[in-house]
Amino acid sequence: MSNPAFFSDLHVHTNRSLCAPRTTEPATYLPYCKEEGIRLIGISDHVYPTEMIHEFGYTEETRMSRLLSLRPAIKAAAEASEVKFLFGCEIDYFPCVGAPYISPEESLNFDYILFASSHILNYPHMYTAYDLSSPDVLRKLTIDRFVAACELDYPVPMGICHPLYPICSPHQAEIIDGISDACLNELFSMAAEKRISIEIHACLYRKDTPLNDEGLSDRYLRILSAAKACGCKFHFGSDAHEPKAFVGSHAKLRRAAELLGITEDDLWDVARGKVETKI
Ligand SMILES: [Zn+2]
Ligand SMILES: [Zn+2]
Repeated sequence: MSNPAFFSDLHVHTNRSLCAPRTTEPATYLPYCKEEGIRLIGISDHVYPTEMIHEFGYTEETRMSRLLSLRPAIKAAAEASEVKFLFGCEIDYFPCVGAPYISPEESLNFDYILFASSHILNYPHMYTAYDLSSPDVLRKLTIDRFVAACELDYPVPMGICHPLYPICSPHQAEIIDGISDACLNELFSMAAEKRISIEIHACLYRKDTPLNDEGLSDRYLRILSAAKACGCKFHFGSDAHEPKAFVGSHAKLRRAAELLGITEDDLWDVARGKVETKI
């Protein structure tokens, strides 16, 4: 696949994400872009409650200052290479502190936002009212969050990252298999109507569900295939928090796109670099 539009990755983390190594800066990925064929990187760190940032010892920072202070490093990385950068973020619901956890005004600081509708087991202390060990409960929450994400209206482009991927659950196959084709059709029709981009994510090759001969998950291919049938737009996301998760990922993501029949016309404008960056 030689189309330049396929050489983007809009879901890349730096050390602003508490779960990434402290050494990961925007420029950390640059030495690997050529071999990965990456020409456009979207930095999309997590937005946390300020209290959580303080608990980790960053007491001088707020949830927004932590992210916005990254701009000079992104700018410097862009100027030091031929790789283009965009400035995004990955947002959540955080049910115990208010939802969704970024205002429309705050979203204007970014080129785009990714909504993590399936971060549920990432923050189990915020879901104490639910039995998260139950696949049925987790499936319902995952679906409900997706619907809620589709009901949002941000003034910047929004994508849903790792769609319907119940991160950290040992019951992924059961959860995914329990989502009917009719339900997928309903969910992705909503996303398509709202022009919400669907992510071609690393869950396709992670070993959370069995992988086929191509090293891809048929379960997550089924999910994306439903999105394609509904006319959704797509973007690529390695979800790398450090180079070792970046290297080797993009050929697999592109292969998945190829198998799904996703062409340049199916890619999100942001993934095609058709936005003016605010970096
Ligand atoms: Zn995520
Ligand atoms: Zn992420």
